[in-house]
Amino acid sequence: MTIALNETHDASLRSWVTSANDGNTDFPIQNLPFAVFRRAGSSEAFRGGVAIGDQVLDLAALRAAGLLTGDAAGACAAAAKPSLNDFMAMGSTAWSALRLALSRLLRVGAAQKASVQACLLAQRDVEYSVPAKIGDYTDFFTSIHHATNVGKLFRPDNPLLPNYKWVPIAYHGRASSIGVSGESLHRPVGQVCGAGQTVPVVQPSRRLDFELELGIWIGTGNAQGKRIKVADAEAHVFGLCLLNDWSARDVQAWEYQPLGPFLAKNFGTTISPWIVTMEALAPFRAPFTRAASDPQPLHYLDAPAVWQSGSIDIQLDVLLETEKMRAAKQSAQPLARSNFVESYWTVSQMVAHHTVTGCNLQPGDLFGSGTMSGPTDESRASLLELTVGGKEPITLATGETRTFLEDGDAVILRAHCEKVGAARIGFGESYGRIVPAIDLT
Ligand code: MN
Repeated sequence: MTIALNETHDASLRSWVTSANDGNTDFPIQNLPFAVFRRAGSSEAFRGGVAIGDQVLDLAALRAAGLLTGDAAGACAAAAKPSLNDFMAMGSTAWSALRLALSRLLRVGAAQKASVQACLLAQRDVEYSVPAKIGDYTDFFTSIHHATNVGKLFRPDNPLLPNYKWVPIAYHGRASSIGVSGESLHRPVGQVCGAGQTVPVVQPSRRLDFELELGIWIGTGNAQGKRIKVADAEAHVFGLCLLNDWSARDVQAWEYQPLGPFLAKNFGTTISPWIVTMEALAPFRAPFTRAASDPQPLHYLDAPAVWQSGSIDIQLDVLLETEKMRAAKQSAQPLARSNFVESYWTVSQMVAHHTVTGCNLQPGDLFGSGTMSGPTDESRASLLELTVGGKEPITLATGETRTFLEDGDAVILRAHCEKVGAARIGFGESYGRIVPAIDLT
């Protein structure tokens, strides 16, 4: 099930793109993530690109240069389109063939260097779009620490509901409002009914929050009525990105019973432009663990490969940049650091669970992992948790305090993988800024 290491993962590989060899880059030659981009401010067609150091390799230009053959050429033609759905639909043989071909073209000593060099653009000169048409978006709830922290705020005696350890809990979210890093979002307006009140008011949310999550991109889908077995699930996953599930907690508190989140989360979700492929993540796999005292996964969520390498060691960071920090040219302030190994369910279990009914997934469908809080105070991955429901404000380096987000605040998500013997790879970032609510009148 898990992808075997191959020559593209070799930590000693160097690229003739010198910025890719800086040990701190998110995009060394071992990563090669995909995005959809064009020259910033232009009316050019969006097309697929691959990150290498501080450059983007333009796949439409590469295709036109005619340097690729066989499966890699077909894959490049699909990946050069204005959305990656067709490339995602091709499956892992095509994804892998293109990765190998690009790795060989970008290595030190590549004979085609001059032709490939002509297909590079600086990342600072491009803008991105959402990399695929997202048919459906499902947000999971896979951190037991997040579920417990939030549950405690509402039900101190019974924080974790009895289904949690059996069911990979999720809700169906809104795909149309998913946007790419760099966007500004209006503070949402909604119904709020405060404690002790019986009649709600309509107002801009006063408890606006972020959620630090990973996005999971479905590559190949399944026919309706045919489930995806957990042992086969990862072959259907194209890759991962960062995902900020903006959440209006006051709206959520009033609307969420009995059917779960709705308007509290439908106004915007910000993702990072780059999709790090499952193949690039292969060196960072980790065993899945489950306490012996907890229920063990039901049969359709259980397979040897889940236990051997179902988890992925991805360090996650969230930072806050206030208007005052921007004005003073101060760098954004880290708020929390966590890791995807905290997930109570694996990516493969999420896919198997989603389809156990026969529900059909499609290329370009997106899952959110759920807020990926860890067990420590420093790894609480939302303001709701960091401020204990708004009761314990955070003091920032500027002297400002926060319980929830203020207008002008930007939330930055980052992630990377590090391991001895492997090249460090990163996800770039997801940047989203809150601007004032639209006037209701
Ligand atoms: Mn969420």
